[in-house]
Amino acid sequence: MSEDRRNEREGTIVRRKALVEGVSRPVVTPIQPSVVYASPSIDVLHAQYEGRETGYTYAREGHPNATLLAQKIDQLEGAEGGIVTGSGMAAVTAALMGILKAGDHVLGANQLYGRSLRLMNQDLARFGIATSLADPTDVEAMRAAIRPETRMILVEVVSNPTLRVADMHGIAALAREVGVLLAVDNTFTTPRAWRPFDHGADIVIHSITKLLAGHSDVTLGYVAAKDPGVARAIYDFAVTVGLTPSPYECWLAERGLYTFPLRYDRAEANAKALAEHLAAHPKVARVLYPGRPDHPDAARATELLGARTGNMVSFEIDGDAAAADRMVRAAPQLPFAPTLGDVGTTLSHPASSSHRALTPDGRAALGISDGFFRVSVGIEEIDLLRADFDMALAAV
Ligand SMILES: *Cc1c(COP(=O)(O)O)cnc(C)c1O
Repeated sequence: MSEDRRNEREGTIVRRKALVEGVSRPVVTPIQPSVVYASPSIDVLHAQYEGRETGYTYAREGHPNATLLAQKIDQLEGAEGGIVTGSGMAAVTAALMGILKAGDHVLGANQLYGRSLRLMNQDLARFGIATSLADPTDVEAMRAAIRPETRMILVEVVSNPTLRVADMHGIAALAREVGVLLAVDNTFTTPRAWRPFDHGADIVIHSITKLLAGHSDVTLGYVAAKDPGVARAIYDFAVTVGLTPSPYECWLAERGLYTFPLRYDRAEANAKALAEHLAAHPKVARVLYPGRPDHPDAARATELLGARTGNMVSFEIDGDAAAADRMVRAAPQLPFAPTLGDVGTTLSHPASSSHRALTPDGRAALGISDGFFRVSVGIEEIDLLRADFDMALAAV
């Protein structure tokens, strides 16, 4: 073959062709990794940008795998037009920075996810946005922290790691009364237990990474707003700064989402049984589970969540940091990992991970001692879990 002929053949390899299709269709969602989308004419492109035609243009602005995943979570949350972001923190960031401006004030719950606290206290502060924190179980404390410049309240329904239950009805009424946006990070509760839009929230946020995707193999977030103007501002900020999710991860999360209700129900049933087992164990000083009558917010948990008290259980051993260490070492089959919502049970020790930066007094004020553990209960057989914890606690 002459040099010219070979070049011609190799050149055509670069030209993309449509997939060969027959009369049958795949039953599984295809992954669409294309970054760019070609419009058939300049007129059509104009129509797309002017909103007269729908169609993707560039993946940072949106792509089919993200849209499909967002629509499924919209359905669970009773939302419309939610977006998927590259992480849960990207969703929190878009909700705050897409809306707030210098001079505004945001009021947060005092036990928010650690990076949300850092974003509010350190990063927003650099942009001239003031933050204060208050106890979300005490609506009067929240009210006292409201300022004339307050624009938004950010809360989680069930706090990490002490599993306190926020006064969601009181806070929603307060937000309405003073005319501020209520943003709810629904990661712990999930729409299976609580749908923020049914109870006065304006913005819903998720770390899909946790229970919704459920297998500890994707990092994604979700944010939706009730008001189309607010939703547009959040979307524009997210695509401008590039909080875009990967199509591959959206596809994996969609796959995980199909079993979300089954996984949630099983993990919650396990959590109830494990909480009971731990409460009866002689080496356990205290169990915190919103579904137990000895939980400090038991009445509110029942009122708000009914039987949907979740898969998270915290407990305190009758022992110090050294005993906590022995417990972790005695149960290598329980991954010691600061995440949650995986199919497998994981154990975390806030004093040495998420709340390490606090002083012992600061931790004590939140009710976190050296013997405090948080468990994200998975979908294993409950007998296995009881045996694993018995083995761990025997070392205390
Ligand atoms: C994990 C988590 C986040 C952050 O999500 P990432 O996907 O890890 O960025 C935000 N809020 C809550 C309540 C979380 O548990």
